[in-house]
Amino acid sequence: MTESKCPKCGGSGKLPLYRKDGSIVPNAIVYCPDCHSEEPERYQHLTPDMYDFPCSSNFRAFSYRFCGVPDPCAVTVGKEVVREVVIERQPANMLPIRSELNYIRNQINEHIDAAKKAAEARKKPQVKQSYKGIK
Ligand SMILES: [Zn+2]
Repeated sequence: MTESKCPKCGGSGKLPLYRKDGSIVPNAIVYCPDCHSEEPERYQHLTPDMYDFPCSSNFRAFSYRFCGVPDPCAVTVGKEVVREVVIERQPANMLPIRSELNYIRNQINEHIDAAKKAAEARKKPQVKQSYKGIK
């Protein structure tokens, strides 16, 4: 507050409201245009975290827009989501995979060899000879 009082209002910041005929309106005041200053904002700024109650999606979206915070659940129409799969090849990670693949390939080759041997054993004429021998 300034030490020197306003000559119009006497430091109160309020003036009586006069009618056109010069009479005073009771219980009505006008802020002094020379010394009145707006009261500082005492309310806390609103944030979306303050909504701890269920609200509609429209109200929630409005509250995010009102607070100037990007809505995490907002669905933007017309914006296409492009998903890209990027496989990073790292030699350190490839080594165990390579050895595992080699092991699996060896196992498959062993099975194939065993199947071929079994097929050859079935085709061998020894069976027929022994069959003939029985006859
Ligand atoms: Zn004043």
